[in-house]
Amino acid sequence: MSSSSRPPSSHSGLAVEPLHGIAGSPGVAIATALVLEPGQGRIPRRTILKEEVPLELERYVDAVEDAKSQIAEVHTRVAAKLPAEHLKILEAYQAMLADPSLASAVQEEIEARFRNAEWAVELAVQMIVREFDQLDDAYLRERRHDVEFVGDRLQRALAANAPRSIGALRLTEPGQTRVRRPTPPLGVHVAQPTIVVAHDLSPADTAAMIREPIVGFVTEVGTRTSHTAIMARALEIPAVVGVTGALAAVRTGDTVIVDGLRGEVHIRPSTDMAARARARGDRHFSRTQLLRKRLREPSTLADGTRVSLKANVELPTEALLGVEHGAEGIGLYRTEFLYIDRKEPPSEDEQFELYRTIAQMMSPRAVTLRTFDLGGDKRAPTIELPEEANPALGLRAIRLALREPNLFMAQLRAMVRASAYGELRVMLPMVSSVAELREGRSLLDRAFAEVAAAGHEHGQLPLGMMIEVPAAAVCADLFAREAAFFSVGTNDLVQYALAIDRSSQQLASLASPFDPAILRLIANVVRASREAGISASICGAMASDPLAALLLVGMGIRELSMEAAAIAEIKEAMRRMTLEECEALAAEVMTLSTAAEVELCVAEAFAPRLSDLLGGEDLTAPPPRVSSRPPTDS
Ligand code: PEP
Ligand code: MG
Repeated sequence: MSSSSRPPSSHSGLAVEPLHGIAGSPGVAIATALVLEPGQGRIPRRTILKEEVPLELERYVDAVEDAKSQIAEVHTRVAAKLPAEHLKILEAYQAMLADPSLASAVQEEIEARFRNAEWAVELAVQMIVREFDQLDDAYLRERRHDVEFVGDRLQRALAANAPRSIGALRLTEPGQTRVRRPTPPLGVHVAQPTIVVAHDLSPADTAAMIREPIVGFVTEVGTRTSHTAIMARALEIPAVVGVTGALAAVRTGDTVIVDGLRGEVHIRPSTDMAARARARGDRHFSRTQLLRKRLREPSTLADGTRVSLKANVELPTEALLGVEHGAEGIGLYRTEFLYIDRKEPPSEDEQFELYRTIAQMMSPRAVTLRTFDLGGDKRAPTIELPEEANPALGLRAIRLALREPNLFMAQLRAMVRASAYGELRVMLPMVSSVAELREGRSLLDRAFAEVAAAGHEHGQLPLGMMIEVPAAAVCADLFAREAAFFSVGTNDLVQYALAIDRSSQQLASLASPFDPAILRLIANVVRASREAGISASICGAMASDPLAALLLVGMGIRELSMEAAAIAEIKEAMRRMTLEECEALAAEVMTLSTAAEVELCVAEAFAPRLSDLLGGEDLTAPPPRVSSRPPTDS
């Protein structure tokens, strides 16, 4: 972990103007800030127990071997193409890795000072760099960069832990030298309730932080549909994302208010301001508690029409939360989170145990397991991905799974085995062609055969797909012939249909799921699913916006899946409208031409009756947007 090194003394201590961002996760938190600067804090530093010493030493030895073999590989590949003197630098790196003085410095840090391997390498490298800095010879002084390079290779190898796992999962084609390795998750360790302020937090960062008493997040980038916000909502931690200038304005140690209701961040607030924010947070909390009292009541519109509300789950612990929040099942289990905060991919047996536990815990409710959606911004330390200009348009989700059949098969077999213990469904992410769906089908069939051959039991496992690529929405009729069900991922559908990066806060206001293009795509999916007699649900963030949820119901959707914490609010919104009203609104918005017109129309129709849920503000001016929801309290 690392915090801002700038001294708090440069501040006057006076309250400053609030910073504005996007309300990423509701609630209000007041605590001390920990500012994480980009590029810092990536090295997990940990004091280890005496018993862990042999393991950390072994990790270091493994990392050296891994780094050496990677450099040797590069050497072999470029040997024929480069003159001998250029190859010398690679040989020098090999020699540095084998240098006994580096090894003994690392060993001493681990054995005598009980530092973990990453920390020990960092300190040993710093020590050697200092020695180089003192040399008179300018050429030799410059060699410090080579030492740093070697240190970096070791850190990366440590992040991936063991050469065995890297070897098994290597995705690099022969001859391809550039690979995209994930940055190791931030190693944040805090003792007090803390608000983390960062430029960006990867899903792995956020997942790693749940073990710490983090009570709020502020990030400079991100939107309501970026994964930091999704994760924060799942964990019910207030967050404001897309806050330009947060790092420059906040210092570690400042008291900060994260107002995830209004999308505001107050730095060094006055006592009055803090009291008002606290009161706002308390009101939000009481209202939420009140709504949750009615959670056991069925989820119906005012006229009795049933709408099934399910939970989206990222981490195993959230499944129980889903039940507590009245979810009728898990509509989206994002299994990729099993891969991202760890050094080894989960084995088939480990996944089987987990899926079985979840199936049993949720039984008789259904659980939809989405196969890993890795790639894009969700990277796993053990999986190397090629360097791509646009990872969101690259080797992600089902594309990656089909390129890595061993990894994929292990997951599918685990799901098949777990199907003996509850009602499970499997769902493929980011499908863009029927050919991909068919390939997924044939691998699933193979998984069934292998599970049976191994003597394991299994049940039914319908195969469905996410509709989150416009191609799939347009061709929904073709997919509906072969998929058991659809689930529309509006976060990505908006990103790909409107060509707006879902993490771009500059364009967040344009990335509206109320855009006529998105509504038409969804309408097409509803039509195709009805004709084929299969279900179509919505599992993107659009489902947890009360106004959008009602519109979706009017369009024919009868199943919504969202962060568990939002279920109570959506259930309440449903109780206040009839199907007739929702359908009339849906018919009207289909005649409109812009997202703003649709938003205004929806707000005029429904916002007055949902004002307590939406904040009691006049939502007709300016129109509300799902991507940056209006304040929910005053
Ligand atoms: C989506 O794209 O809407 C979705 C639910 O999947 P994810 O947010 O995990 O990409
Ligand atoms: Mg998606």
